[in-house]
Amino acid sequence: MEDLLSVVVCPECQGEFEIEAENFWRCQKCGHTVQVLEGKPIFTPTPETAHIFKRIERGPDKGTPWRQANWRFLESQIKSLDPQAQILDVGAGHGDFADIFTNRRYLSVDIVPYEEVHLVCDLTERIPFRENTFDALVLMNVLEHVYRFHELMDALFRVLKPGGKLFIAVPFMIKIHQAPYDFHRYTHYSLRDIAAQHGFEIQWLEGYYDPIFFMGEGTRNFRFWVLPKLSRPARWLGRGLLMLMDGLMALLSLLAGKPFVKSPEEANNPAAIGYHLILKKPTSTI
Ligand SMILES: [Zn+2]
Repeated sequence: MEDLLSVVVCPECQGEFEIEAENFWRCQKCGHTVQVLEGKPIFTPTPETAHIFKRIERGPDKGTPWRQANWRFLESQIKSLDPQAQILDVGAGHGDFADIFTNRRYLSVDIVPYEEVHLVCDLTERIPFRENTFDALVLMNVLEHVYRFHELMDALFRVLKPGGKLFIAVPFMIKIHQAPYDFHRYTHYSLRDIAAQHGFEIQWLEGYYDPIFFMGEGTRNFRFWVLPKLSRPARWLGRGLLMLMDGLMALLSLLAGKPFVKSPEEANNPAAIGYHLILKKPTSTI
């Protein structure tokens, strides 16, 4: 709680909060109060339609190949930070990457009061942090779920220290998920534009390419969304053909080689599964 109070400020006046009671804080400067539920200050209400998902076990070797690539990317970046770096995980959910932040100065924020998050706030609405607060920001598979992503990028730029870094993972060739809170897919061209438009320097942009996983998405789509609608005999035939496809894909994977990360120009493949970016807030703004 003390940790939280040292970083969180009044979104109205940037004043410091004091603990008034177990369930609310009061701004010492303007008197604004914020409700605190189970130790979490709640700055914005959870939208009624918000997709609230169950905890899924995550780890370096768990989940889709894209998730595993996310893990490798983020882990190597967090390792490179100063041990004292203050990190904010934005849209952290259940803390899919929490193990990477063990023994770090780490806070997480989400619009849903998940048990694992430290504070609840929609940063496109209010910003309960001072300018230049964090050394690193983490935005893993979140940007596509934020309708007003320009407002979010403004907020992130504001709370990041000059020289601080924003780590992003964002899917491209991945189906709709967490419906109805899935709004965007960005090409690497638009990601570059968005970063520059909000004042960030692009330190790194890589695509994750996995043609066999991409093909698998096609057969999984057929399996789960087409097959069940077919007549019984057609379903049986479809299942048999899918088994054949799986066999053929296993053979093709021998030719395709391993999935890889590369700059989009180098990869020269128009179907990245997703992108990883490292954006830096410039140290001096002229
Ligand atoms: Zn205040």
